[in-house]
Amino acid sequence: MSNDLEDLFAKNREWAAKVTKEDPEFFSTLSKQQKPEYLWIGCADSRVPANQIVDLLPGEVFVHRNIANVVVHTDLNCLSVIQFAVDVLKVKHIMVVGHYGCGGIKAAMGTEEHGMIDNWLRHIKDVYRLHRDELDAISDMHTRFDRMCELNVVEQVANVCQSSIVQNAWRTGQELHVHGWCYSIDNGHITDLKRTVSSAEECAQQMLNM
Ligand SMILES: [Zn+2]
Repeated sequence: MSNDLEDLFAKNREWAAKVTKEDPEFFSTLSKQQKPEYLWIGCADSRVPANQIVDLLPGEVFVHRNIANVVVHTDLNCLSVIQFAVDVLKVKHIMVVGHYGCGGIKAAMGTEEHGMIDNWLRHIKDVYRLHRDELDAISDMHTRFDRMCELNVVEQVANVCQSSIVQNAWRTGQELHVHGWCYSIDNGHITDLKRTVSSAEECAQQMLNM
């Protein structure tokens, strides 16, 4: 083992000891089952760790992260996470969480080449194309960038809602709310973009208003 990783193992043992001291049953209870109420779909950015931001313990949030929190209809990885969370864990809330200052969004707004990842960023470029009128009307580039981070969340919320998994859950009367949030790295606050969808009817209505 490389020496420079030893401190991570030391930190791990310290953390496990601290948690056990506070709740001696914590790990034994958690090892038997997980029952999270939330599925967090967020950006892979190291500054946006799901559990810490909403102060939740292990076992309380199911997490999927990728570059720029994109939900692609053919991404088996993301779809499998959503299906397991909805059908097996029966989460009540799915939150798509973008963040201001997202490097993936910034790269997608530029013309530079970045290699293989450009194919992933195409999905975000599509979001720009859908909202080009609104975005191009914002002259301040920083404000335009912030707005693009929000609009990407709005579009990914729509993609979650339109998945067969979520549509089927609603059809069978399962309680499930899909939310769009944006996190600020500058002050640690989450903004609710007020795009919560809780039924197939609301989903259809929102699509008409986009
Ligand atoms: Zn990001």
